[in-house]
Amino acid sequence: MPRHRLGVFVDGCFWHGCPVHGVVEFHGPNAKRWSDKIEANRRRGGPNTQACEGAGWTVIRIWECEARSYVEQAALRIAVACGRRPR
Ligand SMILES: [Zn+2]
Repeated sequence: MPRHRLGVFVDGCFWHGCPVHGVVEFHGPNAKRWSDKIEANRRRGGPNTQACEGAGWTVIRIWECEARSYVEQAALRIAVACGRRPR
């Protein structure tokens, strides 16, 4: 949201290894490949956040499950970051 210098990332539970819904252990011939992929995605989040914050942006990271189950809370976090008060 460039106008507010706000970056909102919604991290997918599977792709970013959500502590609640992520896969704990992969099985099968590609298990190592999958676990490496998820770990790389998790690690990438930190530098992306730091790069945005370093450029003066505010960053909000939301898990996919939060966006699905607590969408109003997620929206409120974004609204507050934009300087809006909830109605
Ligand atoms: Zn989740």
